[in-house]
Amino acid sequence: MKVVVLVGGVGGARFLVGLKALLGGPEHEITAVVNTGDDVWMHGLRICPDLDTCMYTLGGGIDVERGWGRAGESWAVKEELAAYGADPTWFGLGDRDIATHLVRTRMLRAGYPLSAVTEALCHRWEPGVRLLPMSDDRVETHVVVADGDETRAIHFQEWWVKHRAGLPAQSFASVGAETATAGPGVVDAVLAADAVLVAPSNPVVSVGTILNVPGVRDALRKTEAGVVGLSPIVGGKPLRGMADACLTAIGVDTSAEAVGRLYGSRKTTEDGVLDGWLVHTGDRSDVPGVAVRAVPLLMSDVDATAAMARAALELAGVRVG
Ligand code: GDP
Ligand code: CA
Repeated sequence: MKVVVLVGGVGGARFLVGLKALLGGPEHEITAVVNTGDDVWMHGLRICPDLDTCMYTLGGGIDVERGWGRAGESWAVKEELAAYGADPTWFGLGDRDIATHLVRTRMLRAGYPLSAVTEALCHRWEPGVRLLPMSDDRVETHVVVADGDETRAIHFQEWWVKHRAGLPAQSFASVGAETATAGPGVVDAVLAADAVLVAPSNPVVSVGTILNVPGVRDALRKTEAGVVGLSPIVGGKPLRGMADACLTAIGVDTSAEAVGRLYGSRKTTEDGVLDGWLVHTGDRSDVPGVAVRAVPLLMSDVDATAAMARAALELAGVRVG
């Protein structure tokens, strides 16, 4: 079976762990299309937070408590940079993590595309899932915020990490998306899939950004595979992180129903991507043209997450042995 999943960082990575546990076996192929809108240059290094979260989580290198970055991390370089007053000081750059960014940056500077760099980094981590950047082109999420009477756009990381999403956002822009193309293999994987899943990731700045890459939304609409999403909103709240601040900025309620409607039906709308939508037990959701099921959606452990993946695949019309 070939399964393609659209993912962001922490929520996406956890979901992939469950899907991999469910489909463990060489007869199955899992491909993750990973958001790269959060990527950023800092201190001369190219940092790809969502790709790294997926790679470390699946490869056993993640700091499980924190959910991002390396286990057993130390922060000597960060402290030294701060002692120089070298901006930005608010970003969590760990020593072990920096090695990843050094290897990546060197390869990018030598001319390799991000997809090839990611494949090379994965030789070490063996994530067991094919990790495809949504694009090899630079597509960066910027956030338009009010600054007194003016508005200005800041990089997503500055808004998310430095301001903890506390500056009211007016809109998001995927800078570079208009001229970007989907990464190698992305569209083909979606078209050849037996099922396409939308992970319980941030609907605006993870999934929304991936869908902004030209060709990706069309591929989801065209594929013969069933397309099923899992709600990241449970009981009217995001489970980790600040997705509510992102939804509010684009005028969408923080509810499973509103996110399902944001993604929309492949059949009855012009740009929708879903056939099925999974919401958490007890959450009501009516999404016209989309089959909705309620099942437990808490990724509390691998078994619970694998059960979510099974429910999603069944709703997509494929049977798991
Ligand atoms: P990020 O890039 O690290 O922010 O991670 P993602 O975009 O992949 O995922 C963030 C989303 O995951 C948040 O909106 C959370 O609501 C969602 N999430 C985290 N844990 C769970 C969980 O156990 N169940 C569900 N349904 N969603 C979750
Ligand atoms: Ca992210």
